[in-house]
Formats: sequence, C-alpha cells, structure tokens
Amino acid sequence: MKHTKDYIQLENKYGANNYKPLDVVLSKGTGIWLEDVEGNKYMDFLASYSAVNQGHCHPRLVEKMQEQCKRLALTSRAFRNDWLPIFAQELCEMTGYEMMLPMNSGAEAVETAIKAARKWGYYNKKVAPNKAEIIVCEGNFHGRTTTIISFSSEDQYKDGFGPFTPGFKIVPYGDINALKEAINENTVAFMIEPIQGESGVVVPREGYLKEAADLCKENKVLLVADEIQSGLGRTGKLFACEHENVTPDMIIIGKALSGGMYPVSAVVASSEILGVFNPGDHGSTYGGNPLACVIAIEALRIIKDEKLIERSAELGEYFLTKLKEFDSPYIDFCRGKGLWIGIVLKDSAGGARRFCEQLLEKGILCKETHENVIRIAPPLIITKEEIDQALVSLEEVLTK
Ligand SMILES: *Cc1c(COP(=O)(O)O)cnc(C)c1O
Repeated sequence: MKHTKDYIQLENKYGANNYKPLDVVLSKGTGIWLEDVEGNKYMDFLASYSAVNQGHCHPRLVEKMQEQCKRLALTSRAFRNDWLPIFAQELCEMTGYEMMLPMNSGAEAVETAIKAARKWGYYNKKVAPNKAEIIVCEGNFHGRTTTIISFSSEDQYKDGFGPFTPGFKIVPYGDINALKEAINENTVAFMIEPIQGESGVVVPREGYLKEAADLCKENKVLLVADEIQSGLGRTGKLFACEHENVTPDMIIIGKALSGGMYPVSAVVASSEILGVFNPGDHGSTYGGNPLACVIAIEALRIIKDEKLIERSAELGEYFLTKLKEFDSPYIDFCRGKGLWIGIVLKDSAGGARRFCEQLLEKGILCKETHENVIRIAPPLIITKEEIDQALVSLEEVLTK
C-alpha cells in the first residue's frame, strides 16, 4: 500500500510544480467530509474554492452523472444535444437573464465575457477598431490564461509570461473616483469580483458596487461580474451583487455550477450582448456537452431544493459572530458574507500557512490566501453542529 509520502514523491517527480498543496493526499469525500489515503478524516473548509458548495459526491449528482454517461457524453456543438436547451432555460430562468453561453473552466468563461464585451463595444458603442478597453480592479483574480494574467496586479502571476494582451486598465478596488477617471469613450466594460476571493475575501465598502453600476450605466459601459467563486449561494444570496441590489450586464459563473463533478462554466447576459456572437466566432469542443448540462441542471436544482442560499446566510452569520468573539492574540479582524469568511491575521502572527497546518492536524482543511488570511468556505450543506465542532479546533489553534 502506498503512503502519503509515496504519493507526494511520485507527484513531485512527474508533476509540474505549479502548486504548493498542503501535504494531505485525499482519496474519498462525502458531504463536508474528506478522507486521506491513511484513513484520516477531515472537514473541508475550502470546498475546492467553492466548487463543492453542494458537498462532495452529492448522491443526486452521482446518480445523474452515472445515468447520463451511459447514454451520451459528448457530441461537440457540430450537432445539437437534448440537454443543452434545458440547461440554458433553467440557468436563464434561475438567474433572470435572457441568454447563456456554456464553457468548461472559469477562465474560459472569463475569456468569453471579454470577447463578448469587446465585440459589443465595437458594434453597439461604436468604439474605433482595436481600441476597446476593459477596466479591472487591483487584487483581481479572474484565472490563468495569458490574456487574463495580462491584467493581474500580482507580479508572480505574470513573471516570465509576457508579452501581454493590451486593452486593460487597473483601478484600485473600492475606489469609485479612480473608476470614474479611468472611463473614456473606448471603455466597453468594468469587470469586477463583487467580493474578492483570492485576495482574501475582501468585501468592498457598502455602496461601492451600486455606485459603480450607476457609473457604468451613465457611460454605456458593461458591468461584468465575475461570480465564479462568490456566486451560487456562497455569500448568502444567489449572486453577491444582490447584496447591493445590483444587476450586472453580464455574470460569469463556474465552480459550483457543477457541484464539483465536472468543469462547467457559463456566461449569462442579455440577448443584445450575447447576440454579438455569430457562428464560428467562439466555441469549445466540450462546452455545453450533454453530460455537463445534466450535471449542471442537477447542481442548480440542489441549491434550490436544499435551500443552500438561505443556509449560507444564516449559518455564515452565526459562524462570523462566533469567530469575532475569539480572544486571539493573532487575529486582526474577521470579514465576510455568508459562509465565506476571511480571518485576517496580524503581521506578528507569522503568516496564515502555519495555522492551516495546525488545523490540518486537527482535522480541518483550509487554505491560506494572501499570506495572512485564513479563508473559511465550507460546503453550504454544513450543519450548525459541524460548525460548532470546527469552532472548538479553530479557537484552540487561534487563541493558544
Ligand atoms: C476560480 C476562479 C476563476 C477561474 O476559474 P478556473 O475554473 O480555475 O479557470 C476565475 N474567477 C474567479 C473569481 C475565481 O474564483
């Protein structure tokens, strides 16, 4: 039998070293629980960056996936399949948009939104050829393609990967005046995470998103919300933009859209915006395949049936309140919305990684983000009892 260290050695030998995972080798998952190759059990407090909001290996997803993969998995979009229309309808009805475009990974959906915004700009806003500009925020995370890293403010994401795609402007997150100054006649879109996940669950000041939305409307600029991580219930609303009653022109969705079963992403928007695509303009071999559609439909239905949005709102508030009561020498403050919480540590705490390693020892898996933030993002099916159980370990690690 192989042990943890054997798997790690093998992976380090043959796998490119582009991640720095915690040294736990997982082999099973049910709900919020994971098990490693040695039989140790853990609570998952990362939920695969919110892809597993429905919990690991949700029985309804497993069943639908098994049924469909025996029937038909991939047609390519050279032909039609019998599940894409149903997925498209259910996603649009649930989100309140007219049209959708399916892809696989989150980054592909971001690329889709960028292409749609640019083409919309040339055809509808009459921007001069090749002059379209998209404004993004400092501290953004939208994925890892060459174009997307072109507008990252994180040096490491770019180092060694140039030349970069032009046409992007970066403004400070939460600064409405900077946005106002950055907009010009060539601006086609403002793309934003309503809460920045990878940056450390950064919640902008109240009112910012609404002001940004108004500014966009006044200047004929599309508001594009990347809700790949913040969407589908994570913050206690279907979309985080709803906290400010903002309806973006385009929403980018991924991760929990498949409940972790399969890569499924999509962009939703009006028919004016997604209508810019003509046959041949854009596509993906796997995008919109019947297996993906069946899984995504079920993943969305689970969110509704199990009231995961309401659970996230309620339990998230409870969790955050309890964390704020900790008498900890390390915690600077805690922030978040719904079951998405950043525990921001003081500089003197020596970084978040060592706390994540101690939590691992206690059977809790979470991942540091940006050096000094512990991110809490369990599957939304977590119970209050399980939260209480985790709070005991969190308090031990953070207050001793
Ligand atoms: C994860 C993520 C992406 C990229 O999704 P991938 O599926 O990893 O390509 C983009 N934007 C946000 C906000 C994300 O959290």
